[in-house]
Amino acid sequence: MPEPVIVLDDLTKEFPADPPVRALSAINLRVEKSDYVAVIGPSGSGKSTLLNTLGLLDRPTSGGYRLDGIETTALNDGARTTIRGSRIGFVFQSFHLLPHRSVLENVMLAEVYGAAPRAGRRERAMRALERVRLPHRVDFPPGRLSGGERQRAAIARALLGEPSLLLCDEPTGNLDSQNTGAVLDLFDELRAQGMTIVVITHESEVSDRAGRRVRITDGVLTEE
Ligand code: ADP
Ligand code: MG
Repeated sequence: MPEPVIVLDDLTKEFPADPPVRALSAINLRVEKSDYVAVIGPSGSGKSTLLNTLGLLDRPTSGGYRLDGIETTALNDGARTTIRGSRIGFVFQSFHLLPHRSVLENVMLAEVYGAAPRAGRRERAMRALERVRLPHRVDFPPGRLSGGERQRAAIARALLGEPSLLLCDEPTGNLDSQNTGAVLDLFDELRAQGMTIVVITHESEVSDRAGRRVRITDGVLTEE
C-alpha cells in the first residue's frame, strides 16, 4: 500500500484563553491518495482550524500529522512553508482575485512569494488555466468573468505549484447550482488525475459527491 496523503494521530489544537479553547480534540484520520473527503459540522466546531492545520498554517498543540509520509510537526517554520508551497493548494469561498490584473497575472502572482523559479512561470500558469478549462479567459480582468469562472481561476492559482492535496473552505458558497456543478465536475477530473481533496461544506450537493463524509462536533471528528 502506498503511504496515505494525510495521517492525523491524536491531533489536538488548543487556542490560549482562560480556560483554553480546545478547537480540535484527539483527531485520528487517514486520507488516501485521490480521496475526496467532505468535512461537515456546525459553526464554531473546528472545521477551519482543521483545514488550517492540514494546510500547515496552524501548528497542533499535540499529536502527529504526517503529510505524504513526512512528519510535519517536527519541522521548523521554513520547512513547513516549503512543503506548503510544493504540496498544498487552497481554495476559499471568496476568490481573492486582484481586480486590476488579468486572469493569467492573477494565477502567475501565486508564485511571486514562493520558492519556485521565475522561469516558466507563464507556461505553468497557462497549463493550470487549461486544466480548469479557462484558457480563453487569460487576458480578462476578474470582473468580466462569471462567478463560476472566477472560482475556476482561483482553482488554477491553487494548482500552480502542482500540489498533491487541495484544501477547500466552502468553495461553492458563492456559486449558483450550475456553477457549483461545474466546480464539482472539475474536482472529479482532478481526482482522476490523482489529486486528493478535502472540502469543508454546508451543501449536500457538495458532500453527496464525496466518497467520505466526516463530521466535526466541538472539535471531535466522527466518520459518517
Ligand atoms: P468552524 O470553522 O467550524 O466554524 P473554527 O475552526 O473557526 O470553527 O473554530 C473552532 C473554535 O476555535 C471556536 O470556538 C473558535 O472560537 C476557536 N478559534 C478559532 N480560531 C481561533 C483563534 N485564532 N484564537 C482563539 N480561538 C480560536
Ligand atoms: Mg470556518
